[in-house]
Amino acid sequence: MSERNTSLDERVALVTGGARGIGRAIAFRLAEAGAKVGIVDLAETGAETAREIEQATGRTATFVRADISKEAEARSAVAEVESVLGPVDILVNNAGITRDGLVLVMDETDWDAVLSVNLKGAFIMSKAVLRGMIKRRRGSIINISSVVGRRGNAGQVNYSAAKAGLIGLTKSLAREVGSRNVRVNAVAPGYIETEMTAALPEPARKALIDQIPLGRIGTPDAVADAVAFLAADTASFITGAVLAVDGGLGI
Ligand code: NAP
Repeated sequence: MSERNTSLDERVALVTGGARGIGRAIAFRLAEAGAKVGIVDLAETGAETAREIEQATGRTATFVRADISKEAEARSAVAEVESVLGPVDILVNNAGITRDGLVLVMDETDWDAVLSVNLKGAFIMSKAVLRGMIKRRRGSIINISSVVGRRGNAGQVNYSAAKAGLIGLTKSLAREVGSRNVRVNAVAPGYIETEMTAALPEPARKALIDQIPLGRIGTPDAVADAVAFLAADTASFITGAVLAVDGGLGI
């Protein structure tokens, strides 16, 4: 693969939920590929993550604290990132929450919170960057969905509905803005090594791994690599796609 195709030099990327977990790995990976990176997150540790990215990669990184499910806050966060780094070329809608429970005991507030952050947040953030992308005839939006958005999962009607909704949003928006050279894709991770999976007792961990054709839990870096591929010119003819990064779990 040529260096030109994978390079994100001179691009500006905004990663929501980039303070920790998968978003942090994505922010690092995009900076390693040459992008300037803005992290928009509720967690104040995003400032530390931005500093670590600058030290490790030599690329500029900045942090803005905002709740991406609130339109006014999200818009001013985008404006702040753009005032420091320049116009956003790459948006990664990664921020997400879970409020799991079987449907009969799930509160309306659990439904609303998950739909609001995971689905409405992506709509709000996409809208906030799109005018500029359309004007410049350049942009890439990547939505972090999940294998459960495709297969469903008991105890997660809110989360799986939001993640399935993100796939619908991805495909509709890809149709809307394709003629302006703005690409919109989704990545659907399976089980990824996080604090939650690391804390699982061994039998539960084994039961989980037994379902995965590749026989292992994925890493945040594997998700980040897929995002970097979709963000770069390597994926210049790919839009409306849902790229599974799940070791075959969703087959
Ligand atoms: P995580 O470790 O919980 O990190 C999510 C980050 O998003 C946190 O820093 C969180 O801040 C932030 N956030 C939450 N609500 C926000 C809001 N309203 N506005 C701004 N930032 C907000 O999550 P993760 O496990 O890395 O997952 C990242 C994404 O991948 C999510 O969309 C998730 O659904 C998806 N995914 C994860 C897995 C997995 O196995 N982990 C599998 C499939 C898909 P706070 O800490 O302050 O809440």
